[in-house]
Amino acid sequence: MRTIIFATNNQNKVNEIRSLTGGHFNIITLKDAGIDIDIPEPHLTLEANASEKSSVIHQLTKKDCFGEDTGLEVESLNGEPGVKSARYAGDEKDPEKNIDKLLLCLQNSLNRHARFRTIISLVFENKEYIFEGICEGEIIKERRGGQGFGYDAVFVPTGSNKSFAEMNMNEKNIFSHRKKATQQLIDFLKTKNK
Ligand code: IMP
Repeated sequence: MRTIIFATNNQNKVNEIRSLTGGHFNIITLKDAGIDIDIPEPHLTLEANASEKSSVIHQLTKKDCFGEDTGLEVESLNGEPGVKSARYAGDEKDPEKNIDKLLLCLQNSLNRHARFRTIISLVFENKEYIFEGICEGEIIKERRGGQGFGYDAVFVPTGSNKSFAEMNMNEKNIFSHRKKATQQLIDFLKTKNK
């Protein structure tokens, strides 16, 4: 079975991807690969950060690998917080402070349209492939729900009246940006596994 390194130490993300591979690939974490680094996200775009993650790991291991980066892009804030989503309210990466700042910035805004965007950069047989998953929706005025993480409590995807934080994982996956990007990655890998 082909082994592919996921350039992350986030076990939730690895579990999510493993649940989609149907056992056709062996997806391993940096820790599984014996790599102990925290790859920085220094760039101005999600694409560049995702590429940085896959290329750093590829240079180290010369093995097939992929990295991902996700951001929340708010239309009336000219795409902010975008690539800065994790650190929107400061370097401590506090999700509650991030939401407070977002709600404050949008308090007088009638346009509350936003989208989550996930970029996956795969280095496969020494070539890079990019996959994108987008989920459109609205930022609501107050937090709703107790599940999920990050900005989930204030994001309602188009086609639902529940926030992401009011959904279980299966419901969220019907809409999820990360699920869409991941599915493209898996579909690509399956074509290479024939
Ligand atoms: P990262 O790609 O894990 O670094 O995520 C960047 C930022 O977006 C972090 O603040 C996350 O909490 C947030 N984020 C990423 N994916 C989601 C999501 O599915 N729901 C809510 N927030 C998310």
